[in-house]
Amino acid sequence: MDILLMGPPGAGKGTQGALLAESLGLPKFATGDLLRDAVKRGTPLGLQARAVMEAGHLVGDEIILGVVRDELAKPEAAKGVIFDGVVRTIPQAEGMERILTDKGRAMDAVLFFDVTDQEILSRLERRRAVEQRADDDPAAVATRLEAYRDQTSPLLAWYEARKSLRRIPAVGTVAEIAARVRQALGR
Ligand code: AMP
Repeated sequence: MDILLMGPPGAGKGTQGALLAESLGLPKFATGDLLRDAVKRGTPLGLQARAVMEAGHLVGDEIILGVVRDELAKPEAAKGVIFDGVVRTIPQAEGMERILTDKGRAMDAVLFFDVTDQEILSRLERRRAVEQRADDDPAAVATRLEAYRDQTSPLLAWYEARKSLRRIPAVGTVAEIAARVRQALGR
């Protein structure tokens, strides 16, 4: 089963994705984590992505689709993947669809974690104190929210048209939201 988690930064995709991956026995793949790791290790991908990420902009579609192809070529991805924030633009959604179709697969569900801007701002402020991520500083957060609004949110209609979108009200305890996720997936 292939599942995409969508939502603004700080919506809880990472937390819920980890729980879901464990309960379904599937790998979780987050482009944000992969890119941060590449930056930390100073790989060519990291050197290419670093400035763009730190400013809060989106990394180019071709780079993202390249890492998606590599990930899906791994044997552990054969039964499905929990894609955490992996698709953030329409061209990425189109590319992902092509890659999955070539494997005889499709995105079975898209879970949209719905949270207000105000809730996101206070969550990211708290996260910044804990994780010290460069892109959680106020200027980068503003850019990330703008990128989300302009480039990622049009995907909601794109997936809605394909009948795969499920909305999860994402305010509440981790357990409450996990229960909504299970319900949305009929589990
Ligand atoms: P995240 O950890 O999900 O907040 O992602 C951190 C940063 O990685 C984002 O602000 C982007 O710069 C970059 N990134 C992660 N996933 C993508 C994607 N699918 N498309 C473009 N940029 C991405």
